Amino acid sequence: MKISDLGEFNFIRHISECLNQKLPKEVTGIGDDCAVVPLDKENALLLTTDQLIENVHFVKELLKPYELGYKSLAVNLSDIAAMGGKPLYALLSLGMPVNLDIEWTDQFINGLKELAHAENVFIIGGDTTRSPGPIFISLTVIGKCAASKIKRRSSAKPGDVVCCTGFVGDSGAGLKILLENLPANPKLIEAHCSPRAQLKEGMWLAEQSGVHAMMDLSDGINSDVQRIMEASHCGAQIDLDRLPLSKVFLEACEKYDWMPQELGVISGEDYHLLVTIDPEAYSNISKSFENEFKRPLYEIGKIIKGSELVYLKGDVPYELRTTGFEHF
Ligand code: ADP
Ligand code: MG
Repeated sequence: MKISDLGEFNFIRHISECLNQKLPKEVTGIGDDCAVVPLDKENALLLTTDQLIENVHFVKELLKPYELGYKSLAVNLSDIAAMGGKPLYALLSLGMPVNLDIEWTDQFINGLKELAHAENVFIIGGDTTRSPGPIFISLTVIGKCAASKIKRRSSAKPGDVVCCTGFVGDSGAGLKILLENLPANPKLIEAHCSPRAQLKEGMWLAEQSGVHAMMDLSDGINSDVQRIMEASHCGAQIDLDRLPLSKVFLEACEKYDWMPQELGVISGEDYHLLVTIDPEAYSNISKSFENEFKRPLYEIGKIIKGSELVYLKGDVPYELRTTGFEHF
């Protein structure tokens, strides 16, 4: 059997089964956005790692090294945001071809530094190796959260309102524009090249006891909501007519004849947060969120019993025509 026969998510499950570890009960291992390890009586450490590989996650010619440095840290900070934590330290590992320009690496580090500085994150180590070809970037971030406030993928309950904290599809549309060499669209390209980790939003949502499950939108709603469903043993219903789609995204869809709702749920890398909220608490939380962040918390569906993911369009069940990105 090949890895591609299993697929990315079954492969991770397979690793977890092979390891067959008995973790201490206070430790959360494989399966959430971050691992959780107790720190002291009140706090826990959050640990996460993500890699970016040339020609898998990025095409060197399509993105500035500065943007790539910024994005490499942002995607890791996003996993800390997904648990409601605050990032503290990071480790940076690089695999590079011998002829890579120092100007390129300097710009990469400058981008990384800008975000690290803005979020008070210190880069405290890493590893450097030669690569036989592609550039290989790996970041590990350590953060902290009050143990009682951590939000997990496994806490969704039937009846919960499913929400997300921002527009979906912008990053995917930006990527399509870059890959298909279409006329530049600065807003969509920025969404793809310089995503913002929702750290403030994550910490704020972690304070709300009515917020049940939370994760970040890295692979797209279609894939990510299924991670919550698996972890929480439930189903979900997503209303395609309620997806938050930006004006600039809709204009691009119209211009290039893309299906906006399909692209909105399938495409990834928007790095907003996907949350499920107790229906009793939803109205208060959504009003306070809007007060705090000057934009809505977008309701897109609900958690249901069972194990199905159902899409609705005009209140009628709808089958997606496309599927999202998976590594294998
Ligand atoms: P995210 O998209 O939030 O970074 P992933 O889908 O990459 O999360 O990973 C899901 C879970 O699987 C995480 O808990 C992650 O730590 C774990 N994981 C992924 N790959 C591996 C691996 N090779 N070995 C052990 N755990 C892994
Ligand atoms: Mg994540």
